[in-house]
Amino acid sequence: MTETPAAPRRIAEIASYHAHIYYDVATTKAEAEILRRQIAERFSVRVGNWHDEQVGPHRQSMYQIAFATSVFATLVPWLMLNRRGLSILVHPNTDRPRDDHLIQPLWLGPSLPIRGEVLGETLDEDELPENLPPNTVPQIDDV
Ligand code: ZN
Repeated sequence: MTETPAAPRRIAEIASYHAHIYYDVATTKAEAEILRRQIAERFSVRVGNWHDEQVGPHRQSMYQIAFATSVFATLVPWLMLNRRGLSILVHPNTDRPRDDHLIQPLWLGPSLPIRGEVLGETLDEDELPENLPPNTVPQIDDV
């Protein structure tokens, strides 16, 4: 008898995505500033705050770009071509935060360590992934 494989996960589980853009305060923050401005000019996304200090599972300075699933097909290829040498973690937001960061993500550029132990295996009821409205209005239409 053969075991029935587990059903594949459905992409509808993905509520949204994050791109975490890593930089070094001493050497690459200027590149990260240029990239941040270029993203905000072109994409309807939520640009997060600067985190020069390590925060959450991240072991290097970074800022977060939160975006809707509909933006993935343009933003991610654009980042592939324009990441300015920076490492970028693109991860889905499902109800399994640890897997989202450790098993399912894409890395653009060299991957960096992630502290998976600080992430929950499942989401608590009160922290379901939110569908964030964008806080930038793109001004440039040359994606
Ligand atoms: Zn994230």
